Amino acid sequence: MSIQQDNRFQAIISHAKEYGFVFPSSEIYDGLSAVYDYGPYGSELKKNIRDYWWKSMTQMHENIVGIDAAIFMHPTTWKASGHVDNFSDPMIDNRDSNKRYRVDHLLEAKADLLREKGDEGSKEADALLASMDTLLAAEDFAGLKQLLTDQKIVCSVSGTANWTDIRQFNLMFSTQLGSVAEDADTIYLRPETAQGIFVNFLNVQKTARMKIPFGIAQTGKAFRNEIVARQFIFRMREFEQMEMQFFFRPGTEGEWYKYWKESRLQWHLSMGIPAEKYRYHDHVKLAHYAKEACDIEYEFPFGFKEVEGIHSRSDFDLTQHQLFSKKKMQYFDNDIDEASGKPFGNYIPYVVETSIGLDRMFLLIMANAYEEEVIPKGDGTSDSRVVLHIPTKVAPVKLAILPLTKKDGLPELARDLMNECKPYFKCFYEEKDAIGKRYRRQDAIGTPFCVTIDHQTKEDQTVTIRYRDSMVQERVLISKIKDLVLEQIME
Ligand code: ATP
Repeated sequence: MSIQQDNRFQAIISHAKEYGFVFPSSEIYDGLSAVYDYGPYGSELKKNIRDYWWKSMTQMHENIVGIDAAIFMHPTTWKASGHVDNFSDPMIDNRDSNKRYRVDHLLEAKADLLREKGDEGSKEADALLASMDTLLAAEDFAGLKQLLTDQKIVCSVSGTANWTDIRQFNLMFSTQLGSVAEDADTIYLRPETAQGIFVNFLNVQKTARMKIPFGIAQTGKAFRNEIVARQFIFRMREFEQMEMQFFFRPGTEGEWYKYWKESRLQWHLSMGIPAEKYRYHDHVKLAHYAKEACDIEYEFPFGFKEVEGIHSRSDFDLTQHQLFSKKKMQYFDNDIDEASGKPFGNYIPYVVETSIGLDRMFLLIMANAYEEEVIPKGDGTSDSRVVLHIPTKVAPVKLAILPLTKKDGLPELARDLMNECKPYFKCFYEEKDAIGKRYRRQDAIGTPFCVTIDHQTKEDQTVTIRYRDSMVQERVLISKIKDLVLEQIME
């Protein structure tokens, strides 16, 4: 990450704390590594992103329904899913500092450094990542260690290349269910929400009377004992996922994968985030059951990184649960197969999964929104402001209602507008401080519209509406404000 980008990222982290978006967890005890709490504006923003995703899945698609499964699941779930045996990352320790690293992170950081050298460096970086993908796919740990040596990668703490061999490290947290430790069963905190969907597949299909193709969506907490927890809320130990599993007839996986790959990128773009900040990364390393997989990557201040994964998973998960639970996971398809003239009959559906991290999406929106803007004043001097250009749909506060003074009946008019609007969207009322100062505070939390009630309002029922991004101000009838904001939210 360049110094400039690093400074920008640090500024975003400070801003997030100062304005009540994100706090380090249990900060009075010096925090807990890679765990964060969301403050008043952060929890609104996070909820709005979650709601926007939920609506796009379960309201805009007639064939997708939601569930809310428990975090704790029967331990066999994680045997069946392969997480007990395979949910691990290749790790390496530095013998001098005793610091542990994820091998792919070390190589990715090296690739980022190479890219800073320009076109030649970018080519080298691409070649390095391609070699890494191939070695990871072959689980060739000796080859990976050789790659670290060839690239002269050293520990950032000790500065040495005194590495151990590479080992796998399981990322699941375990705990005990039951009061007496000896009798208690070991259970896991779910590392992904998806399995709650798979084990409920038939419950949902039957009770919601779903016909294939259909999807099941879920949002909720997931836990991973990430060894290298860094980059603020990008990689956390407790985080939230928004996942959707889409079930369909085997043989149609190519078209559904394509559909969801495109449709998910469109969802991101529908928030007005520029297309050039996104790219797809198609996986070379595929799980043995996977048909295709890709990541949607966003250009964070620390480079292009995954924000969402789209995975064509075949019938792997349902088949595994059928095997381990000995309960049938089949679906009866009574549509007629034109080739045979008979119903398709019983089969285990194939699945495409879309999986996005809510916290990562939050960081994406903050990173995209943050701007330190210089405003020329016309007399040769300039002013400045920090503004969050958060998409209106997900902004924590939509409308700030600001009476110019505390007297002359202006607060009463402002309160009337507040009472009219607050059942529809989040409003903020403030009568303290100069209006310019109040505007700046709203800019800093990303409020798209401010309305000022002044003496003219009493005469002609107009107010000044001020737009966050352009800072343009215009007079509008007070009776039009609610619909004006609603239109922008629904856009
Ligand atoms: P990474 O390679 O970054 O560890 P992953 O490929 O393991 O991610 P998935 O298992 O595909 O991630 O999870 C789906 C999504 O969940 C990711 O795209 C990401 O947005 C989010 N996610 C995964 N791990 C974390 C984490 N530790 N903190 C925050 N979000 C996460």
